[in-house]
Amino acid sequence: MITGRCLCGAVRYESPGPRLFSIVCHCRDCQRASGSGGVPVLGVPRASFAASGPVRAVRTTGGSGEPAVRNVCIECGSLLFGTPESAPDLVTIYAGSLDDSLAFMPEAALFVSQRPPWATLALPLEEHARMPPDG
Ligand SMILES: [Zn+2]
Ligand SMILES: [Zn+2]
Repeated sequence: MITGRCLCGAVRYESPGPRLFSIVCHCRDCQRASGSGGVPVLGVPRASFAASGPVRAVRTTGGSGEPAVRNVCIECGSLLFGTPESAPDLVTIYAGSLDDSLAFMPEAALFVSQRPPWATLALPLEEHARMPPDG
């Protein structure tokens, strides 16, 4: 079982998997939302994902041009998971919120065209200028 929580513990979530993809997104939206150089994201099926606690859905237009929804804890403001309207079958868990940080290992980096040099990870990642498939 994949489990996680926010900083204050008011919100918890779990997913039985499977892991659909493991990426780091370096788009400017992810940078601004997280205050960092990118967001590590674990994709899981929405149908079996369960969350409890007070979340607020923050809706913006994502890098794809489609609405992106980021769910944050109302109490502590932690970014927890995304429920993209462009992919209604998916939940995108922000890997920093996982209970077991070793439950995630990124395989690819997205939007490297927007990645600052200081955010490059020392990992062998498949790199995409924006979203795959774009090379
Ligand atoms: Zn919280
Ligand atoms: Zn992004």
